[in-house]
Amino acid sequence: MQQSDSNTKVKSRKKPARETPQEEPGGAPANWSKVQAEISASSGISLLLVEGHQPPALSVTNNNSICQALQSSPDYVKLCDPFCGEAHARATAAGTITHYRCHAGLQCFAMPIEIDEARELVVIGGRAFLHGTDYRELVERFRSGDLQDLCSTELFQNVIFADEADLDHAALRVSNAAQKFVTTQPPGDEEIAVAADELVPSDEPALRDELISGPEPSPSSTAASLAESIRRFAEQIDASDPARTYQSIVAQSADLVGAERSSLLLFDESANSLTMTAARGIPAAVAEVAPIAMGEGIAGAVMRENRPLVATVDELGRVSPSERRYKTKSFISYPITIGARRFGVLNLADKIGGGAYDIHDLSVIDLVAPQIALALERAEWQQRANQFQLMSITDPLTGLHNRRYLEARLAEELSRSKRYDYPLSFMMIDIDDFKLYNDRNGHQAGDRALEITAQCLRAELRKVDVASRYGGEEFSILLPQTSLEEAGVIADRIRRKIMTTPFPHGKTQPLGSVTVSIGLSTLSGTLDSAEAIVRAADRALYHAKHHGKNRAYAFQGAQPAGPMNPRHN
Ligand code: GH3
Ligand code: MG
Ligand code: MG
Repeated sequence: MQQSDSNTKVKSRKKPARETPQEEPGGAPANWSKVQAEISASSGISLLLVEGHQPPALSVTNNNSICQALQSSPDYVKLCDPFCGEAHARATAAGTITHYRCHAGLQCFAMPIEIDEARELVVIGGRAFLHGTDYRELVERFRSGDLQDLCSTELFQNVIFADEADLDHAALRVSNAAQKFVTTQPPGDEEIAVAADELVPSDEPALRDELISGPEPSPSSTAASLAESIRRFAEQIDASDPARTYQSIVAQSADLVGAERSSLLLFDESANSLTMTAARGIPAAVAEVAPIAMGEGIAGAVMRENRPLVATVDELGRVSPSERRYKTKSFISYPITIGARRFGVLNLADKIGGGAYDIHDLSVIDLVAPQIALALERAEWQQRANQFQLMSITDPLTGLHNRRYLEARLAEELSRSKRYDYPLSFMMIDIDDFKLYNDRNGHQAGDRALEITAQCLRAELRKVDVASRYGGEEFSILLPQTSLEEAGVIADRIRRKIMTTPFPHGKTQPLGSVTVSIGLSTLSGTLDSAEAIVRAADRALYHAKHHGKNRAYAFQGAQPAGPMNPRHN
């Protein structure tokens, strides 16, 4: 889900009122666009036929989505003017192919072609990242630099990666195709033009070679599918909720480099440590893996140095227990960062087939790492939005759950207890003589006392217990899978804890300290609804107050309330 919060860095692209057109339909010589499309599709680079300043071009095929975004914007197209904008002028002046690297770090060429005697036409090609670092730098500009307004998911739909040889081969193919085009396609020859229409997209290699001759350097099918996977990486990340985002990052990165085992550790800035957040193929449960301090172990070192590591376990000497038990010894540990922001570390191990990771695998991760960082940033914002939602079920003063949450949880726990025949107990806790405390010490001191009471409750409860501020100076505790006897023990622990905790002005209270009275109830044949359970605890509380306060009373079945613990000190 894309965040629409105004603080969100990755925001929906602001559509300019008028987009700069990229192409002049019908401007290219008949059938050239198909020739060009064929070359750009099989070589994986962008190609544009231009007759002057660009944009617009006469024909655009396989355009880099980043160029598309930049050049469609009347504000940002100026950045491209000295590069692709002026490419036609430079190439025609030189009379031969010229190479350039643009402001976005994309490698391009511009080459005059003679496919129409009457026109000075140039093909711009490439628009490709040759190095992961160039891509990272550009992503940083979109994330927090001068291109923030353009940042959108469309931006990454067709990012072009290539190496120099890909560009050279493609240029050669364009040049050969242009020569053939002139010799086989006299302008206006309807019959041949129609034939060419059928020839170009044909699967029949012999026929295609007729038209596009020269070396056939189309990438191997694995390389092509890899390029495709990288291009689609961002799209395939499941952004529906943070947990899915983490899991799909792990799964997709593992698939890219053929890792059986992979994990994502997120950096917690306040604790200066890494926490395993998602994993595939590791022997332990993610939640059981202890946080790793910055600098500690392989991942900690990789995060601190902000440098990826491709190594074998043997090369490292000492390894932590969690780093052992690999099937194969080679692994990649990769820091996910953008600029100064550290997001975490991606670990990839146990290469399918048992081979070792190499520099090629690392460069694949280089290419997707900025996309991972962007996805993690988005997930962070989502998590924050979830926390806002959480606030509506949390009491702001004490940080405990509120009554609304308690009621929902009580209904849920009740049906679970009935289904599995588990016990369930409930407590109502009320501060004794709290009106007096407020009157004597002021409302602010009263608030502070409520906070301290909440801290005491937290300290005495188990993780499964649900403590809430029921209202005013009343608290409730839901105790799943707890019998009345066990609840009585917990109640007495709470009562003593509060009585012995030094509250400001506590000594001036009628009982010599801040104290609470507690009413207890438990699920039974007669008390089998949420309402009945709460009412019973309330009645028990009333009895505790009536019998002198600072005590816990229970309501058992239809029996009148009785004291839980006869001794109160
Ligand atoms: P008892 O021992 O019978 O429970 O007497 P009590 O004075 O505690 O009970 P009573 O219901 O008469 O008064 C509760 C007081 O709690 C009234 C109100 O001033 C105080 N109170 C309720 N909510 C808050 C709050 O959010 N902050 C503060 N400071 N006081 C609160
Ligand atoms: Mg009260
Ligand atoms: Mg009270």
